[in-house]
Amino acid sequence: MARIVMKFGGTSMAGMERIRNVAARVKHVVSQGNEVAVVVSAMAGETDRLVGFCREASALYDSAEYDVVVAAGEQITSGLLAMTLKAMGVDARSWLGWQLPIHTIESHAKARVESIETDALLTAMASGQVAVIPGFQGMMEDGRVSTLGRGGSDTSAVAVAAAIGADRCDIYTDVDGVYTTDPRIVARARKLDMVTYEEMLELASVGAKVLQTRSVGLAMKEGVRVQVLSSFDDPTQDDLPGTLIVSEEELEESKMERQLITGIAHDKNEAKIILTRVPDRPGAVASIFSPLAEASINVDMIIQNDSKDKEETDVTFTVPRADLARSVDLLESLKDQIGFYRIITDVEVAKISVVGVGMRSHAGVAATMFKTLADRGINIEAISTSEIKVSVLIDEDETELAVRVLHTAYGLDADAPAA
Ligand code: ADP
Ligand code: ASP
Ligand code: MG
Repeated sequence: MARIVMKFGGTSMAGMERIRNVAARVKHVVSQGNEVAVVVSAMAGETDRLVGFCREASALYDSAEYDVVVAAGEQITSGLLAMTLKAMGVDARSWLGWQLPIHTIESHAKARVESIETDALLTAMASGQVAVIPGFQGMMEDGRVSTLGRGGSDTSAVAVAAAIGADRCDIYTDVDGVYTTDPRIVARARKLDMVTYEEMLELASVGAKVLQTRSVGLAMKEGVRVQVLSSFDDPTQDDLPGTLIVSEEELEESKMERQLITGIAHDKNEAKIILTRVPDRPGAVASIFSPLAEASINVDMIIQNDSKDKEETDVTFTVPRADLARSVDLLESLKDQIGFYRIITDVEVAKISVVGVGMRSHAGVAATMFKTLADRGINIEAISTSEIKVSVLIDEDETELAVRVLHTAYGLDADAPAA
């Protein structure tokens, strides 16, 4: 017997037929004598619809009320799944975020899980009852509902798994594992049997939305065994060939053949800002980025051009697209203090990143990237790197082409011999 957390994403919960399919899978896992907690997402498209209502209600909506609205999607699917399980003869009940409760901290709409009370949950599970938990939602210190940021049900699942000491956290989604790149963009993407926490963390943070970044960080910290699987395979099939997230040691022990690059991701959620003619003097850059940091705006890529006359320089950087208007407002209000001439913005950009721990020991990864893109006439607007990642900013229209040619260049295509 094992204690298992099963998480089902939006596509897997979209409509009663799929919910019945999910219930059949849960029933199968229960019938093998396991204790099961299920974490569910809202039906696909539902959270977007609810966010749309918030925007319609008020351009500057209150984020505490936003949480009240968007948390509703998961409340519906958790109730529906519990009902469906019962109808199939499986004892089940829903546990809403505030009922467990799942305590969260920091801000509404991007709350973080601090702790989960598990006594009642474990008692129910030990009695053979399936616990159905709506993902994405929790409760603030003041008792109000909170949500964990888009894609947050993955994090709910990992947090529940850590709290109840689950043997496994299985993330069922609409693809059958983690691929070398988004399989919806590159048909020749290759499924990975294993990926390390560190690589998955980096891939998720640069746009591979198959897992929310925070869920991977939490799994790594808490040592949760996470597996990504398809919810569309036969619900009674055991040993689905998913992707296991493992430590580096475990990967070494498995003697799996390592590629230099593990994966490629793209992200269309950034916007570029150029401040022209910023005075080239000590403190100028701090006067731009400190206020942005204080406003909790995450700046990602930064380039400061070399100034020819040593007096003025252009500073280019990226921020999340959702924060662009706020960033521009803030910078305009500081125009005299910073001393720039004008702000130029561009939302039609995409960030393409290549990730792999192999980069630590191999030079030339960045050079291959730049040359491959140059050969296709793709212009690079900004660059950033970390120990295991190189990212470039390009024109949004060239996203698919860039991902495809890089996938081939690094020998990742499914029909290519291992590089
Ligand atoms: P869910 O609703 O189950 O949480 P998501 O839409 O959040 O599903 O995540 C699954 C999607 O992630 C896939 O449909 C796929 O298009 C996308 N994706 C992006 N990068 C990758 C990758 N490297 N491997 C697998 N899927 C990826
Ligand atoms: N329903 C939420 C979203 O669409 C959370 C999730 O599905 O993970 O972002
Ligand atoms: Mg998701």
